Amino acid sequence: MHGLMQDWPLLCHKIIDYAAQQHGQREIISRSVEGPIVRTNYGEVRNRALRLAQALDRDGFELGDRIATLGWNTARHMEAWYGIMGIGAIYHTLNPRLFPEQIAWIMNHAEDKAIFVDLTFMPIIEAIADKVPSLRKIIVMTDAAHMPKESKLDLVCYEDFVGASDGDFTWREFDENTAAGMCYTSGTTGDPKGVLYSHRSNVIHALIGSLPDALDIASNEIIMPVVPMFHANAWGIAMAAPLTGATIVNPGGMMDGASIYELLDTEKVSFTAAVPTVWLMLLAYLEETGKKLPYLNRVVIGGSACPRAMTQKFQDDYDVDVVHAWGMTEMSPLGTLGSLKPEYADFEGDARLDIQEKQGYAPFGVEMKITDDDNVPCPWDGKTFGKLKVRGPAVAKAYFGGAGKEQFDAEGWFDTGDVAHINEYGYMQITDRAKDVIKSGGEWISTIDLENLAVGHPDVQEAAVIGIAHPKWDERPLLICIRKEGKTPGREDILGFMEGKIAKWWMPDDVAFVDEIPHTATGKIQKTELRKQFADYSFPTA
Ligand code: AMP
Repeated sequence: MHGLMQDWPLLCHKIIDYAAQQHGQREIISRSVEGPIVRTNYGEVRNRALRLAQALDRDGFELGDRIATLGWNTARHMEAWYGIMGIGAIYHTLNPRLFPEQIAWIMNHAEDKAIFVDLTFMPIIEAIADKVPSLRKIIVMTDAAHMPKESKLDLVCYEDFVGASDGDFTWREFDENTAAGMCYTSGTTGDPKGVLYSHRSNVIHALIGSLPDALDIASNEIIMPVVPMFHANAWGIAMAAPLTGATIVNPGGMMDGASIYELLDTEKVSFTAAVPTVWLMLLAYLEETGKKLPYLNRVVIGGSACPRAMTQKFQDDYDVDVVHAWGMTEMSPLGTLGSLKPEYADFEGDARLDIQEKQGYAPFGVEMKITDDDNVPCPWDGKTFGKLKVRGPAVAKAYFGGAGKEQFDAEGWFDTGDVAHINEYGYMQITDRAKDVIKSGGEWISTIDLENLAVGHPDVQEAAVIGIAHPKWDERPLLICIRKEGKTPGREDILGFMEGKIAKWWMPDDVAFVDEIPHTATGKIQKTELRKQFADYSFPTA
């Protein structure tokens, strides 16, 4: 017997409809690509998204078409997302930090039919447009006055495109399982793989993400998603914020410490989210200038492990709570968040930081397990490492075009490629990417733990650990560090600092100092590249 409740499909445009109706005046503030801070609101964003949908429809775009976006976090980018989804087409976010050839490869794989592009990224589109035969329309997200003067391409001005329709349009109707969005994983090895979100998964993810022990979003919140919309949907904020009526402050393309600080301060941002590298820049700026963060209550840090020292600095020096989070493009992306359950509510100092160093626990809608090499579940004892597997309504069940089949099993579990342990209260801690973990004498050493510890040294700016072949132990850890400007710590200073804080056999065999550590397009340390750089290295003691 079926229930007798209404059939109300979970469609993304219902989110922007809701925001316009209940929170229509709430602002969306953006640092525009042209420079000035631009203010609009949910009512306006919906109105313009409708006109954009009407224009796409008029031009023959339809259900299932992939329409790319290559843009910073701005109100226009949001309008494009909702407008595209509103005709049943699919917004496909492209990461501008990839090489142009990679972007072209991805666009061809997705068969993108149109692209919304920011002025900043015109050189990319100029370089690759003729290599993407499916591309029919290039819409530059600016006004007539700022349109590129010289281009070999046939460009459409965003404001003209939106302005040409009157908004007398209704969102198209379709099933909630219709594809809504698309994002390719960064692909540190092999070709990038396409993740295809549905309307249903996006809406459910926005609901899950808004929960108090998740991102904890409400209409009185002023949110700055520094994490880009092209990096795993800005962690869901572009949907969770309108779903709850929160104010959004978009940083546009300026992510340096001074620019981020300026918006945090002038817009009185209460909550923000980004990868650790962004916060390194902000904290360095605050240290330099002596400025404080009086309005900010909470910062969500994820994408790569949040160093303990960073959590401590935010909390002790700036009175800002840190929520450590883990997720993946394949998970829409939220997987776990480090809000403190009642069991930990009274924890203070180091005991609290011990918990916050973990990536947190899974909200409703994310099932999680760890298994050994024989696929046998590992105990949740806080120390046994295993392969981390997940399933849920906002977790991918396949990649676009059928790549990567081996990551999905018959029971619906997705193998994340991460290695983790989980404690008795469900708090998960990533110890490594499966391919980065160091195997020394048959035992595993967590490179993330070592990196976190090393960046706790006051003179270390950034640290990475890789395994180097060793005649006796198979592999031993090499610590690679960037020194803070003007500081000159040596090998012994750093190893001395780490001693006693980890098991003796985890101690790196050597320390190498470098000026730069390579990062992927989503801000993760590029260990494949480091391993290449240190391919000829051998330990002095080996
Ligand atoms: P992406 O899909 O680009 O967001 O990358 C997902 C991967 O980033 C995960 O599988 C993890 O390896 C890594 N990651 C994300 N968040 C964290 C975190 N808080 N700590 C450690 N690794 C993380």
